[in-house]
Amino acid sequence: MSKPVGRRSVLAGLTMAGATPLFAGSLPANPDVVIVGAGAAGLSAGRALARAGVSFVIVEAANRVGGRAWTDTRSLGQPFDHGCSWISAANHNPFVQIGRENGFSLIDHTSPDGDLLDLDGDRADAADRAALNRAWGAVDRAVSRAGRAGRDVPASTVVPDMDWAATVRSWSGAMDYGMDYDRISTADYWESADGQPSFLVREGLGSIVATLAADLPVALGTAVTGIDWSGSGVTVETSDGTIRARACILTVSTGVLNAGHIRFTPALPVSQQQAAADIPMGLLMKVPLLFDGARLGLGENNWVTYRIPEDQPGRACYSVAWPCG
Ligand SMILES: Cc1cc2nc3c(=O)[nH]c(=O)nc-3n(C[C@H](O)[C@H](O)[C@H](O)COP(=O)(O)OP(=O)(O)OC[C@H]3O[C@@H](n4cnc5c(N)ncnc54)[C@H](O)[C@@H]3O)c2cc1C
Repeated sequence: MSKPVGRRSVLAGLTMAGATPLFAGSLPANPDVVIVGAGAAGLSAGRALARAGVSFVIVEAANRVGGRAWTDTRSLGQPFDHGCSWISAANHNPFVQIGRENGFSLIDHTSPDGDLLDLDGDRADAADRAALNRAWGAVDRAVSRAGRAGRDVPASTVVPDMDWAATVRSWSGAMDYGMDYDRISTADYWESADGQPSFLVREGLGSIVATLAADLPVALGTAVTGIDWSGSGVTVETSDGTIRARACILTVSTGVLNAGHIRFTPALPVSQQQAAADIPMGLLMKVPLLFDGARLGLGENNWVTYRIPEDQPGRACYSVAWPCG
């Protein structure tokens, strides 16, 4: 039995998305393409198909758009990004233009003055900062050199053993990638698009991503449970009915794929299953703390970082003071 995705889901979208007007019309009953996931990738795919005049529908399990880009505007009295907040490699990152065109305030966070480096409870002196910078340079050079040479080995196997190296490894590993250095490939490190300059967004990067949803046909609260691609075209089973289309663009994370939440008929090729298994999700959690006005001598957007003991990398955590005010 085939049932079109319900109108209820679209109406839910109108209330949940706040300032971003979602699609006001009926969802296309027989779209050419079904896009699974309304994160940055799914919404970008939707905008590209809209420009090309291809009919499509975006199916999203959650009750909001954005996925891992999510600005919470309610809990703290100011915008807080639970997910992504930095527009990295801003010289060629399209979210810079999207943000500017939509009136967002982008703040250069490439090398903020006044970052705090703590050493056993005291502020580190100039010599310690210089030693940390030397370690940054040495670690980055070693991992980049291996990656540039085409070596695909754990970054932990090429880093020099030197003072402050544990702090650098934890910063650029657990903090930046959500993975420890023994699980980061030198090749991936070299190929990564992560880079400077880097911008924060006063209104939240999640809010910029959400603008991509404007006027797109998104069915919220609709989880895809199965994709049958055995014949010509695809049949996409959702919690709200079945959709037939010519093609499906799947943007769920490898975490979702590896958990087996979506049943494929026939099963995905082994090489694709292996690729998803080989690129697991990292784990990164942000904890916002609300202060009563005390600013502790820290400037807006300053990093608070400290020396990580070589033998206790799990003790690492990092803070940004008074993000965007
Ligand atoms: C804490 C944190 C901090 C980060 N910081 C940065 C940063 O500063 N800068 C940066 O560039 N990146 C950062 N990232 C990474 C960035 O957020 C992600 O790379 C990006 O948002 C991924 O977008 P996506 O569309 O590929 O996937 P997602 O955002 O995961 O979108 C996939 C969508 O699919 C939906 N979905 C899942 N299963 C189903 C299903 N069965 N049916 C229907 N829908 C489904 C999900 O709900 C989700 O909305 C951070 C991530 C996290 C978690």
